[in-house]
Amino acid sequence: MDIREEFLRLQEIPDFESKISDERVKATGDKLEVLQINVGRLCNLACKHCHVEAGPLRTEVMSREVMEACLKVYKEQNFSTIDITGGAPEMNPHFRWFVEEASKISSHVIVRTNLTIMLEEGYGDLPQFYADHKINVVCSLPYYRAKDADRMRGQGSFDGSIKVIKKLNEAGYGIKPDLKLDMVYNPGGAFFPPAQDAIEKEYKAKLGAEFGIVFNNLYTITNNPIGRFGSFLVRSGNMKGYMNKLYAAFNGRTLTNMMCRSQLSVAWDGSLYDCDFNQAIGIQISTKESIFDLVGKKYKKRRICFDKHCYACTAGQGSSCGGSTEGE
Ligand code: SF4
Ligand code: SF4
Repeated sequence: MDIREEFLRLQEIPDFESKISDERVKATGDKLEVLQINVGRLCNLACKHCHVEAGPLRTEVMSREVMEACLKVYKEQNFSTIDITGGAPEMNPHFRWFVEEASKISSHVIVRTNLTIMLEEGYGDLPQFYADHKINVVCSLPYYRAKDADRMRGQGSFDGSIKVIKKLNEAGYGIKPDLKLDMVYNPGGAFFPPAQDAIEKEYKAKLGAEFGIVFNNLYTITNNPIGRFGSFLVRSGNMKGYMNKLYAAFNGRTLTNMMCRSQLSVAWDGSLYDCDFNQAIGIQISTKESIFDLVGKKYKKRRICFDKHCYACTAGQGSSCGGSTEGE
């Protein structure tokens, strides 16, 4: 399904760029902070809301050559964070090598995990592997109640996730100051996330009382109307309603902190995007360069490519891979 064609039909919603009056905000900032690397679309799950449409049958997997180019560009352009995502990034055959190399050159390496992969054969030692390399583990747990979480992730996924979080806690995650365990919450449908602080407190109280689990921060992410979630909206006749809701909730105070202003997103084949959402929807960076083209080059500001899905980043409290963005 071509979601961008659906956006064209939404005539009543103005182009996103028309909402940005400051020309500087339409481009990346003075320096990039996060190199987000999507190492492939292979995943052990196939969640209903997945914006990258990952799953067990996907074959797109990042090669070592692309990873090596990522490491070079990270160093040369002086990024501060390596953010490894997927799919289930752990399923990439070069994953452990890449994490080891990344942690040699960066003091902040994030791995985004769906947790349940660590229950599969060959992945059970990952909590200790992550601890050994001081990785900031960011896990997605759709809700703190099994019924709601399983509806999004599949039967039994919640209990599995809890088991793995306990293992991460045993390895020191959420307890030792240098072992950060963060969680991501995104809504189970066409509605907005609650206030980040409030839902974080709720998660901490419920998961602590029921399972003895601890973690650091919870980030809320607004569902972006692309990928499987976008297709669901179109099929169910809810795209127009959801887009109107996003548009009505537009908050100009979130613009300067849009994650695309300080990030570069690399796809499994080395192509480059302003963010993971643009990657999922196939909008490459304006210069169309690949990660190989950037090796040996200095950072240059670039114009960001927007479309109507960008309203998901500026609705209400704002949304990014690092949670809400308003007024930071
Ligand atoms: S949402 Fe995450 S865990 Fe679910 S299919 Fe997509 S990449 Fe896999
Ligand atoms: S979807 Fe991507 S390009 Fe659009 S505002 Fe959000 S981060 Fe920026």
